[in-house]
Amino acid sequence: MSWSLESCPALVLNADFRPLSYFPLSIWSWQDAVKAVFLNRVNIVSQYDRVVRSPNLEMRLPSVISLKEYVPTSRRPAFTRFNVFLRDTFSCQYCGRGFPAHDLTFDHIVPRSRGGRTVWRNVVTACGACNLAKGNRLPREAKMYPRTPPIEPSSLQLQENGRSFPPNFLHESWRDFLYWDTELDPV
Ligand SMILES: [Zn+2]
Repeated sequence: MSWSLESCPALVLNADFRPLSYFPLSIWSWQDAVKAVFLNRVNIVSQYDRVVRSPNLEMRLPSVISLKEYVPTSRRPAFTRFNVFLRDTFSCQYCGRGFPAHDLTFDHIVPRSRGGRTVWRNVVTACGACNLAKGNRLPREAKMYPRTPPIEPSSLQLQENGRSFPPNFLHESWRDFLYWDTELDPV
């Protein structure tokens, strides 16, 4: 399959790996993205297969880039799948093991069926096995307690956690990224 260069824009993420702006999405043309790479202002998170060539250069076009310098946003961190995983450093809060994002789930500490809400303080990252093992029980019933108390993180905390994870490990395409960044509905 061949793509025209115009169909290869780059999604721009802030230094904490969230889109710079969500509505509308922050998107740069391939020219701006390539320029920013050469000015050393961005990291390449993900690339298209499409290659551009000049006499002394050959590179795959970036599909997702992240700014090296964090642009402060006034918003508190959005309550998203991605940010919950990032707060919990992509590790199961029950067994403590780290997993790729697609192997992680959410656990409601107080199950929804028991009145638990979908909020920062009641949602933790859990692997499938632990989630299944805990089921619809309270921590004291299951004897399973989160390793870290689940608080609402600050932007700074997420930014610091984000630094310890190579972003291309977390998501390979826009689609993945945007899925993880979908805002969760607080219930
Ligand atoms: Zn686990």
